[in-house]
Amino acid sequence: MTRTVLVSGAGVAGPSAAYWLHRHGCSVTVVEAAAALRPGGQAVDFRGEQVKLLGAMGIADEVRAHETAMGDQLVLDRAGRTAFTVPARFISGEVEVLRGDLARILHDRTRDYTEYVFGDRVTGLAETADGVRVTFRHGAPREFDLVVGADGVHSGVRAVAFGPETAFRRELGYHFAGFTAPNHLGLDHSGLVYSEPGRSAMVASNREPGTVSVGLFFRGDPRGYGRPDRRRQQELLAEVYAGSGWEIPRLMRAVPDAVDLYFDTVGQIRLDRWSSGRVVLLGDAAWCAGPGGSGTGLAMMGAQILAGELAAAGGDHETAFARYERRLRKPARVGHKNGAGSAGFLVPATPRAIGNRNRGYRMMTGPVSGKLLDHLGYRAANAVRYREYRDRVAS
Ligand SMILES: Cc1cc2nc3c(=O)[nH]c(=O)nc-3n(C[C@H](O)[C@H](O)[C@H](O)COP(=O)(O)OP(=O)(O)OC[C@H]3O[C@@H](n4cnc5c(N)ncnc54)[C@H](O)[C@@H]3O)c2cc1C
Repeated sequence: MTRTVLVSGAGVAGPSAAYWLHRHGCSVTVVEAAAALRPGGQAVDFRGEQVKLLGAMGIADEVRAHETAMGDQLVLDRAGRTAFTVPARFISGEVEVLRGDLARILHDRTRDYTEYVFGDRVTGLAETADGVRVTFRHGAPREFDLVVGADGVHSGVRAVAFGPETAFRRELGYHFAGFTAPNHLGLDHSGLVYSEPGRSAMVASNREPGTVSVGLFFRGDPRGYGRPDRRRQQELLAEVYAGSGWEIPRLMRAVPDAVDLYFDTVGQIRLDRWSSGRVVLLGDAAWCAGPGGSGTGLAMMGAQILAGELAAAGGDHETAFARYERRLRKPARVGHKNGAGSAGFLVPATPRAIGNRNRGYRMMTGPVSGKLLDHLGYRAANAVRYREYRDRVAS
């Protein structure tokens, strides 16, 4: 029997779920709050088991065709000299793409057999005897067998089915702003990181040689900013980076014109359960770990496991959701652990903390300890193994 599944969110997890659910015979609708696919985002990387998954989805070649092919990244001291070098394989894994490219590749792969509805969102979920009656902000109510909340860290489905975000959120104590800027620095497949106490900038060359991806990380009380609109985001960035050295003033001048400015507080999501009746969470909506938590690969792996377990349980969603959760709990914990340590690397709070980071990484990136860095890089990616489930529909 074909099952109807509503997936909320057309980021990375949502279209991945559409792909795997279709392969197991489901009919999938994806509802996305944005009016179109969201193009933004910096680079996301795959390594180890996650690379096998790209092959299994038939997108490995296309992902490779768009890879950033980034080289080593240099971390600079206050004078702009190299403090240490982070090898490409640590930051960029085995294959790295821009998040926006990945989202488009996944959408292209699934659009022929998936109903995509843009510019709408779930407002209510009521479980019936054999399905879920869903109401939407704009569209007419509909009934589905199952609902997957793959709508990111600020998930709307999670809010409706589990309660407000504050109950599940753990702040990491810093904020992130990402945008595209002109490549004044002439970077070519390389990246630079510059830190002052409590504020950093990460600049990496893009697929377009004329532009760079800029990531700004800065400490601050997460509740202090609320959910600022675009104008307030610009003001906040100008306030936080006032008086910064190095190339920051020039980078800041690109903010007003940036069409892809992304601004958010960095935090993690931790829930005791990822499902409630016929509603299940996936990706950042369920276990967002923050930077370094292998969130993209794990979201995609989670989609494959969720759909596979549903097929293996013959449609018994309770059994499937419990097995899905059992397989992914440990990798999510590893991701949380990695993500929790991200502030120390990305945005050290004091001059002393910057010095300690630089010394520590100089040792870790040296020839003797290089293996430790590899271990850290692969720890989250390989925490769950790729395992095939039997398909019902040929891909
Ligand atoms: C614009 C953008 C830029 C990002 N940049 C980076 C980055 O630079 N580096 C990085 O590591 N990670 C970034 N991320 C997060 C990264 O994509 C995720 O950590 C990871 O890929 C897991 O994906 P996800 O599908 O669970 O969540 P996401 O990729 O966040 O996708 C969630 C999707 O759900 C949509 N959505 C949100 N609320 C609702 C709702 N109520 N109803 C319907 N749809 C909704 C969003 O518009 C989005 O398309 C970014 C996410 C976005 C949306």
